[in-house]
Amino acid sequence: MLTGLPFLTVKGQSAFRFDIPTLKLYFFGSAIWIREFYLILAATLFFLLLITFVTAIFGRIWCGWLCPQTVLLDLSQSIAGVTKKHFKTIQRLFLLPLSALVAITMIWYFVPPAETMRSLFVSPTITAFFLVLWLLLYLELAFLGRGFCTSVCPYAMLQNALFDKDTLVIEYDVSRDATCLRCDACVQVCPVGIDIKKGLDSACIGCAECIDACRALSEKRGMAPFPNYKGRIVRRKTYWLGSATATAALTLFLLIWSRPAVDFLVIRDNAPLPAGLNRYSYTIYNNSGKPLSLALSSPDPVTLIGEHALLLPPFAAIRGRILVKSIGKLEHVGLQISGGGISIIRETGFL
Ligand code: SF4
Ligand code: SF4
Repeated sequence: MLTGLPFLTVKGQSAFRFDIPTLKLYFFGSAIWIREFYLILAATLFFLLLITFVTAIFGRIWCGWLCPQTVLLDLSQSIAGVTKKHFKTIQRLFLLPLSALVAITMIWYFVPPAETMRSLFVSPTITAFFLVLWLLLYLELAFLGRGFCTSVCPYAMLQNALFDKDTLVIEYDVSRDATCLRCDACVQVCPVGIDIKKGLDSACIGCAECIDACRALSEKRGMAPFPNYKGRIVRRKTYWLGSATATAALTLFLLIWSRPAVDFLVIRDNAPLPAGLNRYSYTIYNNSGKPLSLALSSPDPVTLIGEHALLLPPFAAIRGRILVKSIGKLEHVGLQISGGGISIIRETGFL
């Protein structure tokens, strides 16, 4: 999904991509400009609540089932596991193309895939980013592997603080310890190399491999697996944390979709000019996915000197300057953009 998302386009632009030259985030059919800090704040709040909700209720579901690191290591292990010999060497060989794919995917979230492929090994910047990312990812996956989760990953560290007594975890049933077969199948399959029989370990990523390995043996003897899920999903915390997360998501959605299609900012320049003449700098943001043809004018009795007809490509911003000449005495002047069903007036001072 993460590799496929950069190929998805909405209104002719990437569905989700941060465009560095223009400092804007393409977000499923709208463009969020870096100056719209309140949206970034709302998005951060939503993600913090989502992480807290998922972790407090479902424990390490992300680590064991969704994290790209887990997925890539599981995939390369499964491929290498087909041959019994040279397991580690074959796994490291498969990690070479996989880490290259992850490296190029990361670039696609900043430069569209078609442009990346055209520039790869042509543009020194994109080539350097790709090679450095590929090397770092390969070294991390091939040589640090699951050790990353227990030593480096900040999310793994954060989780222990978010757990409570009802969070979903995998626990060994100590009350049945006397009947455990002591086969250690659960230890052999554990990707992080822990012994679940010794109790809950902060290194456990909740992958449930130990449950499957134990079940394969214990069920033959009519017993339930000794390690199993423990916790309560439906409880009061689920409702209030879930509601807070859903409210934050809804707020973010409404903030994005209630933005005007066009934003018009004007400031007066402090340029030394003859009396009755003022200069203004303006920026127009086209938040819509349509090209716009706008006319710059004023409702006041003034003359505008400069470009009047403005063309805005979809999701683009234009900046310009205009001189305003007044014969009579004015304290304020209005600048207006109109066209395509849009009419915005900004009042600003006149000296
Ligand atoms: S103890 Fe079990 S659930 Fe935890 S990481 Fe090891 S195999 Fe996965
Ligand atoms: S796999 Fe099950 S039966 Fe075997 S040692 Fe582990 S907990 Fe005991």
